[in-house]
Amino acid sequence: MDHSDNNKRVVISRRKMLWKLGMIVGAATVGATFDMETAYAFHESRGSGCGSDCNSPPKHSKAFAQYQDHPKGGLSCVGCVFFSPGKAAGKLGSCSIVSGEISPYGWCRLFVQRQAPQFPGDGG
Ligand code: SF4
Repeated sequence: MDHSDNNKRVVISRRKMLWKLGMIVGAATVGATFDMETAYAFHESRGSGCGSDCNSPPKHSKAFAQYQDHPKGGLSCVGCVFFSPGKAAGKLGSCSIVSGEISPYGWCRLFVQRQAPQFPGDGG
């Protein structure tokens, strides 16, 4: 029996995975702001896949995410796709991938810019 096709698929799959990991590690090393796809891949690569319980996936610690309670370079949690605001204005909120209370003025290295809402007739 010839398993060469199966072996080729495994090699390609490993190459793809290593390439993705390389990109992720490279981005983390230089402290780059992640794009959405990379941030999710990074989140998953840390063993944070939701597995059988997708309602409450594990979150990263603030230390791992290098969370800070102040903005960085004009970027803050309130502009991040993972942020959920607190119940009242000025209150701490939460993050879907980083644990604990999160300041709207905070920032971490997993930041992903929220897209500005698009309205009909917005010149687009
Ligand atoms: S910047 Fe980090 S801590 Fe803040 S909402 Fe985004 S992922 Fe969460």
